[in-house]
Amino acid sequence: MQPTDSYDLVIAGAGIIGASVAWHATQRGLRVAVIDAKGPAAAASGASDGAVSVASKRPGLMANLADASLCYAREMAQHNGILKGIFHPRPTFIFARSAPESAALDRLTRMLHDQSLSVTIHQDGAAQTSAISGLGKDITRVIELQGEAHMLGYQATHAYLRAAKCDLFWPRSLEAYEPGPEGVRVFTSAGEMNCAQLVIASGIGTMGLLPNVPMIARSGQLIVSDRGPASEPNLPGPLTSAAYLLDKTANGRGDAGLPVVIDPLHTGQVLIGSTREDHGTERQTDIATVRRLLHSAVGCLPRLAERRIIRVFAGVRSASLDGLPIVGALPEEPNVVCATGFEGDGICLSALIGREIAAHLATGQSSPDLAALTPGRFSSQEAIPA
Ligand SMILES: Cc1cc2nc3c(=O)[nH]c(=O)nc-3n(C[C@H](O)[C@H](O)[C@H](O)COP(=O)(O)OP(=O)(O)OC[C@H]3O[C@@H](n4cnc5c(N)ncnc54)[C@H](O)[C@@H]3O)c2cc1C
Repeated sequence: MQPTDSYDLVIAGAGIIGASVAWHATQRGLRVAVIDAKGPAAAASGASDGAVSVASKRPGLMANLADASLCYAREMAQHNGILKGIFHPRPTFIFARSAPESAALDRLTRMLHDQSLSVTIHQDGAAQTSAISGLGKDITRVIELQGEAHMLGYQATHAYLRAAKCDLFWPRSLEAYEPGPEGVRVFTSAGEMNCAQLVIASGIGTMGLLPNVPMIARSGQLIVSDRGPASEPNLPGPLTSAAYLLDKTANGRGDAGLPVVIDPLHTGQVLIGSTREDHGTERQTDIATVRRLLHSAVGCLPRLAERRIIRVFAGVRSASLDGLPIVGALPEEPNVVCATGFEGDGICLSALIGREIAAHLATGQSSPDLAALTPGRFSSQEAIPA
């Protein structure tokens, strides 16, 4: 395909969401251009863990969407599908060290049962019955979940973009746009483009483009260890504190302890993270936070004390004020679709969101499952609870 200035669809943002939309849209025959201010997976998608987890979602809509996305991504990883070798099924281990954390595990058990989700509890008991050896003495209970997965955001982003027959331009920023009856004029840092429809999937960059869509930038610090000795058993899946569930769901953490996830990488390294801080500086890591995370991680898995830390970094998540992603056509601007606010769930939801947005763009029909995510929900409210 030769580059042109006129497309069926321009997507601003080559993170995992924009890339998934691009691939799904080209599968439907749309002529697509993707532009990015910095480059593919340059922002949150390249600075995340990659848990494809239903257990960490709020009960109700978010858990259902995560489950649907997980099942769809699993399909795309089979039979030489686009996510083959990128989407890795694995168990998740969630532990409790305190009464509030144990209560969170009870709620999780009920949610998985009540919502008939595809993730199942394989084992629920004391630490010594778990498949993981050498847990810290404070851990009183571990649940093993089967059916969850891991997918590195940058790998999926590149896979989608490689396979999509689209034009990719970077560095090229969306600066402004003008919708009209014939389509959308797109003003970029490298000149004007024209398209029938525009998708704004610019992560926290969306804040400057759509000031009426209220968002916050929430950063997270992550720690990467060395590989450790060859004799050391790798974890079969991530070890997640139930405080992390409390922090991510509406319940609040209370006195449950510091949320921590110890996530094994296929290289033998371990990823330890991640904080949720209400500011948006991707370069800011601090020694006090890193020390607290490490202290908590070593308490959960004492053998980590032997590891060396080789990298500490931060990424920034785009979050909405009500905790739900912001997905759908803008009010009064049906040719402009927004897809942002995925906070800590964008890797997990990317498969489903890409498919559903592409279906909407190609057919004009929106999935009723995504109705609650519409950006229009903010225009009808005077004050949005933080
Ligand atoms: C520390 C951390 C851990 C995480 N862990 C997980 C996890 O375990 N599981 C999970 O599901 N999610 C996780 N997430 C969240 C996940 O990374 C995000 O939800 C997801 O990457 C969002 O993807 P996106 O495409 O919407 O945004 P981004 O990846 O941020 O992409 C947006 C793109 O838009 C570009 N852009 C910005 N402004 C413009 C503009 N004006 N014009 C053109 N391009 C522009 C940027 O350069 C960027 O490439 C984590 C995030 C962080 C930070």
